[in-house]
Amino acid sequence: MDWTIEELNHLAAECSCGLTHHPIEIREIVVEPDALRRAAAFVKSSFQHVCIFADANTFRAAGQELANRLKELAVTLSVCIMEPDVNGDVVADERTLVQGFLACSPQTEAILAVGAGTVHDIARFCSFKMRIPFISIPTAASVDGFTSAGAPLIVRGVKQTFQTQAPIAVFSDVNVLVQAPRRLAASGFGDMIGKFTSLADWNFGHLVADEPYCPWIATLTAKALETCVDHVHEIQAGGPEGISILMRALILSGLAMLLFGQSYPASGGEHHLSHDWEMELLRTGKPQVLHGLKVGAASVVIAETYKKNVLAVMQSLEGRSGQEGYAERVEAVSHLLAGLPSADDIRAWIRLAGGVEEPAELGIDAALVAASLTRAHRLRNRYTMLRFLNEPMSFHKENA
Ligand SMILES: [Zn+2]
Ligand SMILES: [Zn+2]
Repeated sequence: MDWTIEELNHLAAECSCGLTHHPIEIREIVVEPDALRRAAAFVKSSFQHVCIFADANTFRAAGQELANRLKELAVTLSVCIMEPDVNGDVVADERTLVQGFLACSPQTEAILAVGAGTVHDIARFCSFKMRIPFISIPTAASVDGFTSAGAPLIVRGVKQTFQTQAPIAVFSDVNVLVQAPRRLAASGFGDMIGKFTSLADWNFGHLVADEPYCPWIATLTAKALETCVDHVHEIQAGGPEGISILMRALILSGLAMLLFGQSYPASGGEHHLSHDWEMELLRTGKPQVLHGLKVGAASVVIAETYKKNVLAVMQSLEGRSGQEGYAERVEAVSHLLAGLPSADDIRAWIRLAGGVEEPAELGIDAALVAASLTRAHRLRNRYTMLRFLNEPMSFHKENA
């Protein structure tokens, strides 16, 4: 990896942006073949009794081997295999949470999350409530949230994000990652390609509504995105090299959020659209769609909408915005939008990575896309271009 936790923490402490950055407290981040062996050694060095959280697929992919290694090292363990719902999805809801709590005992010293996003969200929440640490063992390069402290959970049918804790270590075994279904890596790529619009939204919020912004952290995320785009062919091929590049980029994007303390760098209008679609799929009892596939398709819609409308609306407000230096702000936004890739470019990259370009292919119809564009900005208190297009005169500083 071309960065270490120590280096990032050092740069964060030296950052001149004027904001307080949160040092990363993760002790070890490993992306390499045979990381499961290192995970077992790490667990043995600190704990005697642990609980593995997995689903049936991820237990087969990595959980069983990890359990065997831990037994050889005389670590005692319990296992929680999360049950899928009627659609075959493992969902981070009340039922799965209780399953997680029941698998732990008062002796459990740490939870090992062996799986993708949902398994992590359950492990994050349960370990936080039990005041014990959790260790991240991703089985697919599918999302950028492994190192996150936020746990999005569905409670009584409504998705809410709870602030919990980040893992104390991440062991990502490349031999396991390359065995995961291809659409999971395509989803990870979609989550990364969404950073084009999330970074543009973050910059926009800073330029127009004085939202907090750190150029250094924005650059970290942009670099992670750039490596993915530069290596899209290797990522699509699904070999150890491409999948390692994708996983490292996802982890770096997650660390950028941790350093900033909020999700601004990695989540803008495209994520809000994706959350809106997810809630509608839930409400109507439809099967869930992988997070990054939705984000990728949403970033196409968002890039198209922003390029077409934002500058025109800003120019139409000239003279009645009542905002200091408005003309300069319009100028800066014009540069920002010129630097945003077109919807067609984003489509092409998604296609190269084997992802999904059109919401319709994910079961999200045109009516839902249109409705989400008029309401998804309300899901987060954040000044995105999506909010601007819906509420153009609300330039006030948001404190989300
Ligand atoms: Zn900074
Ligand atoms: Zn995401």
